[in-house]
Amino acid sequence: MNKIQDAVKNARKIVIKIGSNTLAKADGTQNTEFMTSFASQCAELIKMGKQICVVSSGAQVAGVSTVNGWARKKDVHYRQALCSIGQVELMNQWRNAFGAEELHIGQLLLTKDDFENEHRSLNIRNTLFTLVDEGVVPIINENDSVSFDEIKIGDNDNLSALTAILWSADLLILFSDVDGIYTDNPKTNKDAKLVESVESIPELRKSITIGGTNAFGTGGMETKIQAAEKVTEYGIQMLLANGGREKALSCLITDEAKATLFDVK
Ligand code: GLU
Repeated sequence: MNKIQDAVKNARKIVIKIGSNTLAKADGTQNTEFMTSFASQCAELIKMGKQICVVSSGAQVAGVSTVNGWARKKDVHYRQALCSIGQVELMNQWRNAFGAEELHIGQLLLTKDDFENEHRSLNIRNTLFTLVDEGVVPIINENDSVSFDEIKIGDNDNLSALTAILWSADLLILFSDVDGIYTDNPKTNKDAKLVESVESIPELRKSITIGGTNAFGTGGMETKIQAAEKVTEYGIQMLLANGGREKALSCLITDEAKATLFDVK
């Protein structure tokens, strides 16, 4: 068994973050096939006794595919309004996907403020524990319609890391549109190599080139490394894997999946 399979098999509480690029098709519309398949893979893990909490991006993408006339509006109020429209669409799709597995979902929309306030973070923690104990799958996103620069986390990589810490998870899985961390950008450099296991983040930072952000998500590699820095400090392992692969989640247990494991002790 490889280290990746081990990490997933040994984890009981798993936070899974799905990026906008995984949730959207190339034309920008919602990838409902992915969502249906992902929900059924989650159901399999839950049957194995695992507890799952999902951090889902995609409000903005879903908003644009609903009212596509707003796609080019850059004004912050339009962006926030777009997220409020898209969040409903997003959750509707998730409800259908998990409903087909006879699983209920619960929504939490959070901002940085919520994690910094002791009472609020305790309430979030208690809500998460209650939902999961009752077999409900929590689905979290940033509260994009109310957050502004000073109080926002800004990207779901860091949001999922804060969630994993607050919920005392064993493992954080980030699904993105790349197989993991490469020594350079694999889209532009054919010699770039996948880093399969990271034991020291400062060493990793020295050895790789971090590019810019990608098409839909706000993340990019930097925020993924920041997420790894956060969770590994609490002894939580992190996996970065390609959500676009067929059965991406189940593959991590059954196959020799390509991914980067942050295994910092
Ligand atoms: N909260 C944003 C959305 O739902 C995504 C942020 C991110 O992808 O990091 O559109």
